[in-house]
Amino acid sequence: MKIIETVGDMRAQVKVWKKEGYRVGLVPTMGYLHEGHQSLIKRACRENDKVVVSVFVNPTQFGPNEDLESYPRDLEHDAALCQQCGAAVIFHPTPAEMYPEGYCTFVDMDILTKELCGLSRPTHFRGVCTVVSKLFHIVQPDMAYFGEKDAQQLAVIKRMVSDLNMDVQIVGCPIVREADGLAKSSRNTYLSLEERKAALVLSKSIFAGKKMVESGEKSADKLVNLMKSIIEKEPLAKIDYVKVVDLMTMQQITVLDRPFLAAVAVYIGKTRLIDNFMVQEV
Ligand code: AMP
Repeated sequence: MKIIETVGDMRAQVKVWKKEGYRVGLVPTMGYLHEGHQSLIKRACRENDKVVVSVFVNPTQFGPNEDLESYPRDLEHDAALCQQCGAAVIFHPTPAEMYPEGYCTFVDMDILTKELCGLSRPTHFRGVCTVVSKLFHIVQPDMAYFGEKDAQQLAVIKRMVSDLNMDVQIVGCPIVREADGLAKSSRNTYLSLEERKAALVLSKSIFAGKKMVESGEKSADKLVNLMKSIIEKEPLAKIDYVKVVDLMTMQQITVLDRPFLAAVAVYIGKTRLIDNFMVQEV
């Protein structure tokens, strides 16, 4: 497995692969890889001849007071994990390689990015759309893999690919959880022991919500209230949002009569965590 650091070298490698007729898969990440990322990489390796894992802590998707500087990084560990999964290349550019002096082009999106995480992180999806577009242009993947853990991001990327006629197939992969239910996340490393226990309210609210829907509940308000009441029992938890939205448009709904996403964002101490469940068929 190679680690490639420049856009030029990455393009040259892809050119060789395309000449051979290889099918190329891309897994965009910010590194500090865990079993959640691993499930995406393994699936990409099953479905493609060559897999690129990008490891790039993308500055444009962080707000001014967010954790860009402290975001955990460990390329050595990431390389071992990617190699073990069967990836061909880690693409690991510097911020200056991706955003050289004078950089001023961005990909922005309306509607879908204005709800949920877009409300508390108003420039986040502009950064995500921009970096993912750049990665698609550099790597020219046939397939690209994203986790349902970041469900709004997945919806936004699918919309962008459709709206901008990008020639890549987007694959959504299920949330991978710790044994006790907490969704795996690189940000879980920020949690103290006490906070780690408190963080379980996210998955508890998700599991209870799912059960309520499975038992036939059709009111989005009742679903939100149940999930909120579980999170509010935990003193260390502060709700950013608990919402139910249309799966395609990310706009809030009141009746559970179409495919939807139930999503939560909660501060545990200073750490902001997200979780969700989707219902594709109603
Ligand atoms: P990140 O490095 O956090 O930007 O995540 C890179 C990709 O891995 C995104 O598509 C995430 O949705 C996905 N991912 C992160 N955590 C998980 C998880 N616990 N289960 C499934 N996918 C995940």
